[in-house]
Parts: sequence; C-alpha cells; structure tokens
Amino acid sequence: AAASGRRKLDVLRQTFGFDSFRSGQEEIVDSVLAGQNTLAIMPTGAGKSLCYQLPALVLGGLTIVVSPLIALMEDQVAALTVAGLAAGAIHSGKSRDENVAVWRRVAAGEIRLIYMSPERLLSDRMIAALQRLPVRLIAVDEAHCVSQWGHSFRSDYLGLSILRERFPGIGILALTATADTTTREEIRNKLFGAEARVFVSGFDRPNIQLTVVEKDDTSRQIERFIDERPGVSGIVYRLSRKKVEQTAERLAAKGVRALPYHAGMSQEDRARNQETFLAEAGVVMVATIAFGMGIDKSDVRYVLHGDLPSSLEAYYQEIGRAGRDGAAAEAHLLYGLEDVQLRRRFIDEQETDEARKAVEARRLDALLGFCEASTCRRSVLLRYFGEEQEPCGNCDVCLDPPQLVDGTEPARLALAA
Ligand code: ADP
Ligand code: MG
Ligand code: ZN
Repeated sequence: AAASGRRKLDVLRQTFGFDSFRSGQEEIVDSVLAGQNTLAIMPTGAGKSLCYQLPALVLGGLTIVVSPLIALMEDQVAALTVAGLAAGAIHSGKSRDENVAVWRRVAAGEIRLIYMSPERLLSDRMIAALQRLPVRLIAVDEAHCVSQWGHSFRSDYLGLSILRERFPGIGILALTATADTTTREEIRNKLFGAEARVFVSGFDRPNIQLTVVEKDDTSRQIERFIDERPGVSGIVYRLSRKKVEQTAERLAAKGVRALPYHAGMSQEDRARNQETFLAEAGVVMVATIAFGMGIDKSDVRYVLHGDLPSSLEAYYQEIGRAGRDGAAAEAHLLYGLEDVQLRRRFIDEQETDEARKAVEARRLDALLGFCEASTCRRSVLLRYFGEEQEPCGNCDVCLDPPQLVDGTEPARLALAA
C-alpha cells in the first residue's frame, strides 16, 4: 500500500504536473485502485478525469473510458498525448480506417486509455475483442446519461448495464456532476447492480454569497441590485425571451451596458453579445438559460436570478458562473410565489407519465426548500448534493438570521382593539 501510495504521488506530480490532489480526488483514486465499484460525484471543473487517468497508469493494462461526446474525447486524448500518455479514441466521428488504426494500437498493448462512445463499445464483436485484453478499469464519464428522468438521457447508455457481466471482477468507476438521489439510484441500478462506494466532493463555492429575497417588483429590484454594483460583470437570468428583451432594454435605457442573449436571437447576434461579455469588463448579460454552457469568464461578480431556476441543480450550475477567480461574488435570487404556481401548473399539465411528474415535483420541492430555508442556505444546497457542512457565514440566513415572530403579540393587539 505504501509503495502504491508513493507511485500514486509520483504519477500525479511527474506525469500530470500537479502538486497535490484536489478535494475528493485521492479518496476516489484509492477506491478505484482497490478495485471497487465507485461512484464519484463532483461538479464540473473539479477534476473528475484525473480519477481514472491516474489509476489507468498505476494499474497498467487497459482502461476503457466511456464518454458521450466526441469533442470531449478528442480534447482529452490530445491533452494526454501531450503529457506523454498513450491514449486513443474510437467513435463515429472518425473514418473506419482511423478507428482501425487506433484499435491496432489497443490490441498491441500500446495504449493505456481507450475512449469510446457507448455505441462503439457495445457491439458484440468489440466486447469480445476487449475481453481478450488485460482490461483493468472501466470508467463511465457523464454517468447521469443513464438517467431516464434527466435531461441528458441517452438510450445507448442503458446498454452499459451489460459491462458488469461481461467484465466480472473489473472495477467500474462512474463519474458525474449530477447528484440528486434519483439519478444516483439509477446509476447504481444500471451500472453496478449492487452497492458501490459513493464519493461526493467539491460542491462548495464558499466565495459566492447566497441570497434569496422575496419578489415584489422584479424590474425595480433588478435595476436596484445592478445600480448598487456599477462597473462589474454580471449575469441576469430570466425565464422567457420576452423578459430578457425587456430587462435588457430597461437597463440599457438607464445607462447600464446590458446585452440580451436567448435562443430566439440570430446566431450572429448571440455570438457578438457573448464575445462582448467575455472581452469587456462591466457588461451585464441578460439571458435565458441558453447562456452559460462552457462560458469561462473568471471575474463575473454576480448571478442574479430574476425568476425561479428550473431546479437546484440548474441553480447550482448557473450561480457557478460567478466568482471563478475565487474573489467575493454573489448569487441573488428573486423568489416569487407566482413563479412557483406557474411551475406546479407546468408540471401537472405535462403530457407525461405520473412517475416522471412525481420526480419533477420532488425536484421543485427541493428548490422551494432551499428558497424558504430558515437555516444556513449553503448547508441546504450542499446537503442536496450529498455534502454535509456547518453553517457557512456567507449566506443571507447566516448573516442575518430570521427573527422569530411572536405570533401572540398581533393576536393580543387585535383582541384589545
Ligand atoms: P471535470 O471532468 O470534473 O469537469 P476535469 O477533469 O476536466 O474536470 O478537470 C478540470 C481541470 O482541473 C483540468 O484543467 C485539470 O487539468 C485540472 N485539475 C484536475 N486535477 C487537478 C489537481 N489535482 N491539481 C490541479 N489541477 C487539476
Ligand atoms: Mg469531465
Ligand atoms: Zn450560511
């Protein structure tokens, strides 16, 4: 164990060039090295890839990495190759000849990590060919794609449930940033069929101050919030395209450098506004949830939700675009009962089965639990993701605890009148 511990740190430093593990990584790596089935839940950017890349080197043999996105596979293979690590990818974005060339290297034992899309991996011939090789680890990236209740469901991920039978005794590592209990249960059932060790880490973003305030006059509240924070970059999320347009116009009329962004705009307009937001300081992006995927701007000082986000996970993703530089940032949510009623009606009226409605209703309840929390809001948020923590001191509830209302006083006054 000591030797493998040293080996682990050597590989971390020499091959990957990192000084130390990030929060959560080492526990996951240890579990994987011990050959155990492992579910790793960490937010985007926290460093999940290392949790299979490092074991792939320490374990030797072949590690299969299942990934849903071709671009993502190619990025990783390129990065690993630069680091001097033998990796390749087989997927439908390549010609047959290219895939065959990669396969030859796999079969010859020249490759440590082979990335594959599920449909390539799951053919009978491919499985049979892989069974003849020294497979040491199977990593399933973006494992939430097995979730039929999720928004990234991929039917070809369901087929991955055969892996545990075809590769008995080989540890499976599932990785995802999506952590709610429903999704977790589905991953467990589909990929492991049994218990797996579960690790949750890295969700806390302590520099983001969390605030939820009651909605009264949304436009006025948004304008005031932005007025009080002049000259900094921020994102305002609104539910509809129309509200995005209206909010951006009103802010612009008041002299704020506010730009709209939603899926109804032309590709060019969207690209231009996004470029401006990224390149200039002090731009306020007023957007629907269409904005933000892959946006990496480090000095966004606030994310303001003018309307209820779609779930706690969506909220977490969206506020995570603030304060990437680690400096103080704010997440400010305007909470209105009308939004809640609208959302409930929307769930009820969907033409879908009751089980799915129940899942969505539960997700909405979790979100409302957060909005109405009377204890540390960050604790409520992190608990939803499975992480426990003490009161944070950087949310509205911690900073200004709600006064306990003495219900008897108004009643006494009313009776006396
Ligand atoms: P995820 O898959 O969780 O979204 P990635 O695996 O893509 O995250 O990693 C995000 C970034 O973090 C990468 O640039 C990676 O090189 C970096 N990273 C990962 N682990 C460490 C570490 N221990 N020290 C420093 N940087 C790290
Ligand atoms: Mg990843
Ligand atoms: Zn708190």
